[in-house]
Amino acid sequence: MPFDNQNVDVSGVDDRRGRGFGSPIALGGGGLGIVGVIVVLLINVLGGGGGASLLSDNTSSQGTGETTAQLSARCNAEGAIERDDDCYVIKSYNEINEVWATQFSGSTYEAPRLVFFEQGTSTACGNASSDVGPFYCPADRSVYIDLGFLAALQKQFGAQGRYAQTYIVAHEVGHHLQTLTGTEARVRAAQGRGDAQALSIGVELQADCYAGAWSALANRAGNFSISERELDQALNAAAAVGDDRIQQKTQGRVDPESWTHGSSQQRRDAFLRGYQAANGSACTSLVPLSS
Ligand SMILES: [Zn+2]
Repeated sequence: MPFDNQNVDVSGVDDRRGRGFGSPIALGGGGLGIVGVIVVLLINVLGGGGGASLLSDNTSSQGTGETTAQLSARCNAEGAIERDDDCYVIKSYNEINEVWATQFSGSTYEAPRLVFFEQGTSTACGNASSDVGPFYCPADRSVYIDLGFLAALQKQFGAQGRYAQTYIVAHEVGHHLQTLTGTEARVRAAQGRGDAQALSIGVELQADCYAGAWSALANRAGNFSISERELDQALNAAAAVGDDRIQQKTQGRVDPESWTHGSSQQRRDAFLRGYQAANGSACTSLVPLSS
């Protein structure tokens, strides 16, 4: 068991599973485009219903209809972190926040909220369907995850292993750091003037780098003992969501001009860069902003 402390804190979790979401006509990634497509993992691939078939094996209805107290009781039961994906993801989220809180010297770290949803949900960035994959919305400072979709994505794109889930949560919290540090606002302002694609890729690689830095910091602090196998799972997951890999798989060809997140090699390298430095500041220069 990689987590040294077994306590699961659900206070930052907004569990919307089983609540449904209005008319399916309202679904779609379109609303997200206004505020922050750049922060959406996989949106370019799975938007437009491309991921709908993946949802057929969505069996993650566990936890549906639970109160916060019930969720807390279930996730704090013996063996829950190993057994239940949602408890594992919440635990990862707890540890990610705990480590970043210690890195914010002089200012207070405010954790993002973690929202679990199924099929679709409304956010301050617009309405989102599961097709967009896990994402972060800067306007409401929340990480959105459909667990059933996460499992299907892992199967589809070969990002195997539990630590792949931790990597995805850490990547999304990396976008939250960009909001807290002001990078996200500066990028949005610069996108109209400069190379929007380079900025988008830089933002994504930086989030990967933050995920790597977190892994090393958590390991060092004793929050999470990362094994060689888990490091491999994270690196494989980062590579699995590279634009070239996804384009090859979904379109049968690679078109670098339409990349938004970076290649498999770039994403793997970015994670490793943060991991080896064990410091978020190693990730700063990945976003091409003039100072
Ligand atoms: Zn991202």
